[in-house]
Amino acid sequence: MKLDVNALRYLTKDDFRVLTAVEMGMRNHEIVPAELVDRIAGLKHGGTYKVLRNLLKNKLVHHDATKYDGYRLTYLGYDFLAIKTLVNRGVFASVGRQIGVGKESDIFEVATEDGTVLAMKLHRLGRTSFRAVKSKRDYLRHRRSFNWLYLSRLAALKEFAFMKALGDHGFPVPTAVDCNRHCVIMSLVQGYPLVQVKELQNPDDVFDTILGLIVRLAEHGLIHCDFNEFNIMIDDDEKITVIDFPQMVSVSHRNAQMFFDRDIECIYKFFNKRFNLKSEKNEEEVGSESDGEGTSRPSFLSVNKAAGSLDKELAASGFTRKAQVDMEKYIEEDAEGQDSSSDDDDEIGDAVPIYSLKIDQDRSDELDCNLTSRNSGGPGTFSEEHGTSCSG
Ligand code: ADP
Ligand code: MG
Repeated sequence: MKLDVNALRYLTKDDFRVLTAVEMGMRNHEIVPAELVDRIAGLKHGGTYKVLRNLLKNKLVHHDATKYDGYRLTYLGYDFLAIKTLVNRGVFASVGRQIGVGKESDIFEVATEDGTVLAMKLHRLGRTSFRAVKSKRDYLRHRRSFNWLYLSRLAALKEFAFMKALGDHGFPVPTAVDCNRHCVIMSLVQGYPLVQVKELQNPDDVFDTILGLIVRLAEHGLIHCDFNEFNIMIDDDEKITVIDFPQMVSVSHRNAQMFFDRDIECIYKFFNKRFNLKSEKNEEEVGSESDGEGTSRPSFLSVNKAAGSLDKELAASGFTRKAQVDMEKYIEEDAEGQDSSSDDDDEIGDAVPIYSLKIDQDRSDELDCNLTSRNSGGPGTFSEEHGTSCSG
């Protein structure tokens, strides 16, 4: 599917006003009645309806007349709202090529006014479970209802808060720059995901460093929960950076031990297989607990004794308990329903966009951009097998 992008080059104030009205309506409607959009937007002379048609033509909203005349945002519409907000804040000035695609995110390069290149992660929670969400009631009386907009926003908020806290505590993570809606801006990590690396100068050192990180995280009260070769970046000097934090949990989580052991196991498995690390080497290492029988993998019980309180700091940081519960519910439900998760982008009529976009900052109300849909074969560069390599 090819998107006609030319009309997106000059989105007007009214376009954004109506787009924002649809977003506001979605706080409690899956499909927002057109009349409500009109009331929120408050444009004169039926202007809202004309603008809605334009937004629809550009796939920024989706029209649904099954029960009543209504609209909802598409990913593209939501992306535009976040991008515009961040550009207006001066966080970045242009969007470049796509550098990553996950099951539930798309990552692009963006550049600031002075040419610094950053990474933009757009969360897409619910991309795979949209059908289930769609079949639920239109009116979300409890915001708990799993709404992709809400979940994607939570994921971004959580990722940003964790990245910031981890960075402040000296962990090797990207620098958290800013966050809006489902979008996180962070420093661009040089290097490659470890999964792409076939050879290392010092595999033992890298292994020790990585294992040491899992232990140190737990000593600070946190477990990554997706600590694997896809979420570890490594540069030419074999320096490690950890990414991807929306699924992190506190060491006080009821399954903490299992998550901790699974993270450790992933690293052992990967290093054994890829770099052929001898198992004696594997069994004598970092932060380990000697139980007198010679087994000495890092043990959750021993690191947990020393656990700090970063998890509690984060709980107090605006990422609320309720948000945490909602995220965890979603993650659990998603894990259970994996097989039914066919790609239904076509069904929902959302082409997930690939950007090649230049934003002219002088016109703060307009985005000068070119968009093509992923299906049309955009400039995506990294689409290697991606996911949790050993999630249970
Ligand atoms: P997901 O949650 O979808 O797995 P990730 O945060 O793991 O998303 O990112 C997916 C891919 O995007 C990574 O494997 C990596 O190649 C790339 N990526 C993510 N963040 C950055 C960054 N800050 N700098 C460079 N590349 C990144
Ligand atoms: Mg990842």
